[in-house]
Amino acid sequence: MRGTVLHGPRDIRFENRPEPKITRPTDAIISLSATCICGSDLWSYRGIESVDEPTPMGHEYCGIVEEVGKDVRNIKPGQFVVGSFATSDNTCVICRDGYQSSCLHREFMSEAQAPQLRVPLADGTLVATNDVPSKEFIPSLLATSDVLGTGWFAADAANVKPGSTVVVVGDGAVGLLAVLSAKQMGAERIVAMSRHPSRQKLAREFGATDIVTERGDKGVARIKELTKGIGADSVLECVGTQESMMQAIQSTRPGGYVSYVGVPHGVSLDGEQLFFAHVHLHGGPAPVRRYLPELIKLVLDGKINPGKVFDLTLPLDQVAEGYRAMDERRAIKTLLQPNAA
Ligand SMILES: [Zn+2]
Ligand SMILES: [Zn+2]
Repeated sequence: MRGTVLHGPRDIRFENRPEPKITRPTDAIISLSATCICGSDLWSYRGIESVDEPTPMGHEYCGIVEEVGKDVRNIKPGQFVVGSFATSDNTCVICRDGYQSSCLHREFMSEAQAPQLRVPLADGTLVATNDVPSKEFIPSLLATSDVLGTGWFAADAANVKPGSTVVVVGDGAVGLLAVLSAKQMGAERIVAMSRHPSRQKLAREFGATDIVTERGDKGVARIKELTKGIGADSVLECVGTQESMMQAIQSTRPGGYVSYVGVPHGVSLDGEQLFFAHVHLHGGPAPVRRYLPELIKLVLDGKINPGKVFDLTLPLDQVAEGYRAMDERRAIKTLLQPNAA
């Protein structure tokens, strides 16, 4: 089998890899219907997070179960499944509280940009559909695996509810799907902060009512103007930089909610500023597993089409071009097709 390996900054190779095998009785092996490149993959691709050794890549996946270990009860060969980037037993005290991405037995997935994948804790990690879905649903089902699940958590963690005024900081795939999520949850006004025309257009399709192109203090001032000087009820931070985090906190009204789902890089908060901001803060790695059944149903019922964030589709063996396109912001998100390779 060939799979995707990062050797160093901007050095992605599609090369020989061992076939995944059942190593623990709770594992499953799946053949991927589709996989994709994550915005978070770009941190290591750009060398901002360094890799010490050749590192297999990919953590977003859906596909057909080929084989299961002897202790797997609910997942069966032939089923179509979606899983999260974090494995979970779905039974421990943290999972039962809905925070499966911090499961006591969590592992992070990292070999999914490949034709086949081993999934640990299959019963807790994977969600199976009743039937094998038709091809047109694959991009949207793949999106539930991380990017939609993360956008959904951003909206949920920021307490978005019917009538809310919502600001989304970040126009990457997660930010765009945070807009979709806020819309689904009944937000009345959704401001997308974006300066890229193609992303603004998609944000509007997903439910944004206003676009703000300014950033930093000017961006905060625009949000205040749009909210009678008060700030928004819910602000969803989907980037992970110092500027975006401060922009989010300062755009929120006292008593409002800030969620943060972008992996922070160099973010530090000033205690006094935080104290007087008087906001709720809630974020972290999205507990996608909690939302998967609901999100898969919304997709299969035709209520949402999050797969629209994939504006580039390539055969898996052209994965290096997929990274380049996202790095150069020529693509919002790249879908990779193992079967076309
Ligand atoms: Zn991801
Ligand atoms: Zn658990």
